[in-house]
Amino acid sequence: MKIGGINTLTLLDFPGKVAAIVFTAGCNFRCGYCHNVQFVLPEQIEKLKGHFIPEEKFFHFLDTRKDLLDGIVVSGGEPTIWPDLPDFLQKIKDRGFLTKLDTNGTNPKMIEKLLKEKLVDYIAMDIKMPLDEYKKLSGVKTDGKILKQSVELIKKSAIEYEFRTTVIDEFHDVDVIERIFKDIGHVKKFTLQNFRPEKTLCPSFGKFHACTSEKQNTFKKIAEKYVDKIVVHG
Ligand code: SF4
Repeated sequence: MKIGGINTLTLLDFPGKVAAIVFTAGCNFRCGYCHNVQFVLPEQIEKLKGHFIPEEKFFHFLDTRKDLLDGIVVSGGEPTIWPDLPDFLQKIKDRGFLTKLDTNGTNPKMIEKLLKEKLVDYIAMDIKMPLDEYKKLSGVKTDGKILKQSVELIKKSAIEYEFRTTVIDEFHDVDVIERIFKDIGHVKKFTLQNFRPEKTLCPSFGKFHACTSEKQNTFKKIAEKYVDKIVVHG
């Protein structure tokens, strides 16, 4: 596992839990709006070389946080590109922490294994666009059927989950949001988060805009038809 960074404390990223975040390096997507550029682009990751956090150091850190943290968020980058993710999560769980996985949903086989082996307690999967239209935002050819498999596995699982969409004024309108829900169906929890143009993987995305609160409210009303619980981040 290549560990690019650690956020030692968050009260926001693992719902209801006091947690730390570990960022794995590398991603199979190139989302133009991504603000975790340092964990995605090879040339940026190159700069981390020699600065990767050794696993032993990370687990030593966890050993010092046993009474302080409830859980660990494994984020990225895209954690499921790493074949040793199950072992990594097992080692976290062996220390008594709950685990949350942030994923783009491109590796349903890995998600299935993690669920089967009870290695994750919470999954958050991005839903960037209607499942057959991902390339506009993911920047790479993406098979909607693969994403759908991940959606179904997560929905059928017994663990807590959320799907989340980052909305960009120039890409998301009422029709797009309706089509997203047509693809994913009824879900327990959905998070609507607004685009932040300050730091983007693709410089051209810096000219795009966050949605107005009025537009976000319209999306929220659509989402309410399909979800039990909706969270909006402005
Ligand atoms: S936003 Fe896209 S490019 Fe950035 S880490 Fe997530 S999936 Fe990868």
